[in-house]
Amino acid sequence: MVWADAHIFIYHRFNDDRYPTTNTSLQELRNNFEYFKANGYEVVPLSKLVNALKTQSPIPDNWVVLTVDDNYKSFYQHGLALFKEYGYPFSMFVMVEGTEKKYGDYMSWEQLKEIRAYGSLEFHSFAHPHMASLSDEALREDFEKGLALFEKHLGVKPHYFSYPYGEFTPRVSAIARTYGFEAILNQNTGAVASFSDPYNLDRNALVGKSNLKHSLSYKALDAQWIEPNTLLKDGMIQSLHVKTPSKSTKGGIYISGHGYQDVTLKNSEFKQEINKKINQERTRIMISVGNAISTKLLIKDTYGTQ
Ligand SMILES: [Zn+2]
Repeated sequence: MVWADAHIFIYHRFNDDRYPTTNTSLQELRNNFEYFKANGYEVVPLSKLVNALKTQSPIPDNWVVLTVDDNYKSFYQHGLALFKEYGYPFSMFVMVEGTEKKYGDYMSWEQLKEIRAYGSLEFHSFAHPHMASLSDEALREDFEKGLALFEKHLGVKPHYFSYPYGEFTPRVSAIARTYGFEAILNQNTGAVASFSDPYNLDRNALVGKSNLKHSLSYKALDAQWIEPNTLLKDGMIQSLHVKTPSKSTKGGIYISGHGYQDVTLKNSEFKQEINKKINQERTRIMISVGNAISTKLLIKDTYGTQ
């Protein structure tokens, strides 16, 4: 067992076989929790991690934060009991429309209020849109409608926000940040260290066939992405340029759909001609030095400037 920086995990549905790719069985959840317990991990509230980042306090390697995206009923019916049994806190990110319009799979406002005794409720949009496909105006409308209803029913403002589908672009992030959240969470594989950006925190999904030990072995790579930062309209990724303080000369680049390649770092920089055409709407680029990684998710931004 290797402790390597703090890790934030995401769950979605619990014991709900209808959706195998977003489901976690109760047996799997218990296995995760037993692993944390047996190996000295400390499950802490998201607020503790965010506060440590903001006050530049040390981030212990054994910290684990548990989040639940979407306010599905299966959490209330199945997942919650295990969180209670182990005394593990959680932060649930609420898709407001599901509860407000009483969609079948979603918890009611009353149920949400009830589970607040065991975890925190945070914001996950009004209508769960693909945010990069909305105009600035439509995006603001979604935030404002969702935040107003959240506050009306729950009597508090959320502290944190997670992007629907984990999708964001520089434009989407800039708009999200105007709503005063103390932290924003993505859905990129990675870890959290003292240099991590509270407005771009990596989270690892523990759904379907997840590999907990593998996720826990990742460290965060301190990385400054110069390019690419967005998908160009022609779908080309021309080059990659990332600065890191790493002293290593060996690194790796992984591009989803194109695979992995070893690269040589000069002056602590990843500088590589890529020249690949990307056909997907979303592409993941991961750079690594040993088990330290930094991930960039590229999304087509319908209203972006490039
Ligand atoms: Zn979601």
